[in-house]
Amino acid sequence: MDSKPMKKAHLSRSEIEAKLQSAGIQPTLQRLSLCRFVLCEADHPTAEEVMDWAGKNLDKISLATVYNTLNTLVEAKILRALRLPHSDKVIYDPNMDDHFHFLDEKSGKLYDVDSNEVNCSLKLPKKFKVKGMDIIFKGDIK
Ligand SMILES: [Zn+2]
Repeated sequence: MDSKPMKKAHLSRSEIEAKLQSAGIQPTLQRLSLCRFVLCEADHPTAEEVMDWAGKNLDKISLATVYNTLNTLVEAKILRALRLPHSDKVIYDPNMDDHFHFLDEKSGKLYDVDSNEVNCSLKLPKKFKVKGMDIIFKGDIK
């Protein structure tokens, strides 16, 4: 299995602006910076980490604005909000491709694993109609 660091989006400012506009969000400077952080710089951040960052880097942004922006990005399918079994926190993930996660147990860092690299064969009773899988692998990174 080949695990890579998270595929980060490299979006230009105008691409982020366009995404926000198509989601019906006014692209203010603060929202643009927030989106740059969440979509391009952060690596599977929790809501708390996004708040921390916003508190340090964005002048006088309210927590409500941060939450609303994150929620709107999730609704617009620009960002995913994940709950994974290793933590009770919501994690934001801009990688919208089908993928699983590998948790480096030492650092707590999550790596994206392309779903094509994972071969699962399921023998579930026929009555279960599987619509998706959330898989988290755990271990060390060599
Ligand atoms: Zn991911």
